[in-house]
Amino acid sequence: MPTLRRNPITGGWVVNPGRGEDRASSLIEMEKLIDQGICPFCEGNEKHTPPEIFALRRKGSERDGPSWQVRVVPNISPALTIEPDLDRRAERMYDLMNAVGAHEVIIETPRHILNLADLDTSQIKKVIDTYKARILDLKKDQRFRSVFIFKNYGERAGSSPIKHTHSQLIAISVTPKNLKEELVGARDYYDYKERCVFCDMIRQELSTKKRIICSNSDFLAIAPFASRFTHEVWILPRKHSVDFENMSDARGQNLAVLLKEVLLRLKILLGDPPYNFILHSGPNRTKRRGAAWKTLSDDYHWHIEIMPRYTRIDGFEWGTGLYINATTPEEAAASLRQVKI
Ligand SMILES: [Zn+2]
Ligand SMILES: [Zn+2]
Ligand SMILES: [Zn+2]
Repeated sequence: MPTLRRNPITGGWVVNPGRGEDRASSLIEMEKLIDQGICPFCEGNEKHTPPEIFALRRKGSERDGPSWQVRVVPNISPALTIEPDLDRRAERMYDLMNAVGAHEVIIETPRHILNLADLDTSQIKKVIDTYKARILDLKKDQRFRSVFIFKNYGERAGSSPIKHTHSQLIAISVTPKNLKEELVGARDYYDYKERCVFCDMIRQELSTKKRIICSNSDFLAIAPFASRFTHEVWILPRKHSVDFENMSDARGQNLAVLLKEVLLRLKILLGDPPYNFILHSGPNRTKRRGAAWKTLSDDYHWHIEIMPRYTRIDGFEWGTGLYINATTPEEAAASLRQVKI
């Protein structure tokens, strides 16, 4: 049984997925297919993935058949289980529970394209619509406290052997440490100033302009003031908004345009770098947890963090949480701005 264990000192959670042999054997199967030149994510190869959870597909086309535009399937080596019961328990001083959650793969195009940056804007919009649909669906489940969408592109960013462009989704019954730090930080700032810290950041970045990379009427891409990674980029909605999945259709269109622009700028400037991105959005406000997040809709602001990965996290960064970044965000923003696309 996969479990979640809580570090009693820091409060951070660790997943033990279990079933090591099953996981390894499904990965070996997948690698065999790839060696034979079969990409399980390409249109026509649907039988090589687990049955689909969701798809945008042409009217009249059949589930797990061709004629889809975006397809969502379970991860073949999931970190979490869909067991019904969390079974929160203690082992003397330690806390653990079943690692209940969803681990899904979003296949972003039926064509064998490797980088999200190379999809056209209308296809990226469909990917965004799919993210919204999956988050809305999973947030109905009161067991899940947070839902994350993330992407590992390139080996150094921890990508799977499947190169076909895809992102992943994890819904989980705890609030992981990095998100919690942001939520608590944003709440403390709001308690003190009665303003959203992200809205304040946006106002300041718009007035100084030195860390702005590009923008449109709904979104802003900046090199954040305390960038941890060289050429780190954050995309934020200009208008205050806590939950990604409540974005209007028109905004989704503008997000697709800006996301493509940012990814292309990174690709051209840095020569197709490996990168990670993560969507940080409001946690699931379940009935029981309502009191903890009383001001959340005013104090937290969803955003996407994109991190090119040239260097591995080293011992010092791993041991301290203090990052060494040789390029200032002002330099990074200036060079990303100047890219001709
Ligand atoms: Zn493919
Ligand atoms: Zn805000
Ligand atoms: Zn964040």
